[in-house]
Amino acid sequence: MIPYGRQNISDEDIDAVIEVLKSDFITQGPIVPLFEEKISKYCSSKYALAMNSATSALHIACLALDVGPGDYVWTSAVSFVATANCALYCGAKIDFIDIDEDFYNLSIEKLENKLQKSKKTNTLPKVLIVVHLTGQPIDMERIHLLSKEYGFRVIEDASHAIGAKYKKELIGNCKYSDCVVFSFHPVKIITTGEGGMLLTNNSVVFDKANKLRTHGITKKNDDFVNQSHGPWYYEQNELGFNYRMTDIQAALGISQLNRIDNFIKRRKELAKSYNSSLKDFPVIIPKQHVTTESSWHLYVIRLDIVKIKKTHKEIFEFLRSSGIGVQIHYIPIILHPYYERLKFNKNEFPNSMKYYKEAISLPIYASLSDEEQREVVEVLKKALDS
Ligand SMILES: *Cc1c(COP(=O)(O)O)cnc(C)c1O
Repeated sequence: MIPYGRQNISDEDIDAVIEVLKSDFITQGPIVPLFEEKISKYCSSKYALAMNSATSALHIACLALDVGPGDYVWTSAVSFVATANCALYCGAKIDFIDIDEDFYNLSIEKLENKLQKSKKTNTLPKVLIVVHLTGQPIDMERIHLLSKEYGFRVIEDASHAIGAKYKKELIGNCKYSDCVVFSFHPVKIITTGEGGMLLTNNSVVFDKANKLRTHGITKKNDDFVNQSHGPWYYEQNELGFNYRMTDIQAALGISQLNRIDNFIKRRKELAKSYNSSLKDFPVIIPKQHVTTESSWHLYVIRLDIVKIKKTHKEIFEFLRSSGIGVQIHYIPIILHPYYERLKFNKNEFPNSMKYYKEAISLPIYASLSDEEQREVVEVLKKALDS
């Protein structure tokens, strides 16, 4: 099976991990801070905090922005469930924005309409979580302007988008948002096994997130509520979590980051090659906005259903049974039973529902060979022709 995504592990990666295993510290040693420094330098953010997943980083980002009971968090109707779950972990209410037909990120027009309506009923969101779906950045300048006009904070779920560029600058610089979150799950651009990162330029957000990542414990004199009892003293003065990354993972992350430019270059090549191979197929290929550069985490095609004799499901099944590990990113969040219980109205998300009936993610990852890609295209042609 050719999967839709997979990790790329080199001998250098393996050596880097072994070196940590032989060292004094396998967690909470010197490598996690080094990884954070390298990521924040690469992205031009002031701060970076490594965590054990992007899900944890999203949770902490919400808490650091004071999301709590009574607050609203809004996000895109089409994303991985973790993008929405983080708001519910904080006791807040979640609501969704339909996607844009062309780029599959949340529709900024629909966001604007919803903001206007919510202003009248005093139900404006405290935080908006935008997702750079597939690695295509959303128009962050417009999001930033709306955040100023309506007074909400912004988290970028950039789980797909490390290495992507918005207006010539890498995603992660936090220029138009309060926090950016990356995922280092094995299918993503670079991996640490499980892992994530929270980036911010705001020292208050950083301090809060830093403490929440490790139980709400502080070892800094200035942060103590009580008098220190002695040199052993540390203090828990908030309710936090153990969301730390290990040095073993961070060593893999640093080694992976050394190759990120090659990874992105290869993904761009593969996308370009799909674009030209599929141009006469009855499918809609991904669009690329002139002001952005995708990291090509995913290559999503949409079937032109009226021109095809088979159904979406039949095409999908044909590909899977022919050894092509296609996937769908994503089932609209409101269709999951847990979210169905929260009673959202499907009719508010026509673009998301249509997208879900047409989208298929084709294999794309740095180590996908030209030959494997040709096989994907051939099988897809067969599926669409017959
Ligand atoms: C992968 C992913 C996450 C969760 O990442 P983990 O590191 O697995 O917790 C969150 N949001 C999006 C959009 C993702 O693709």
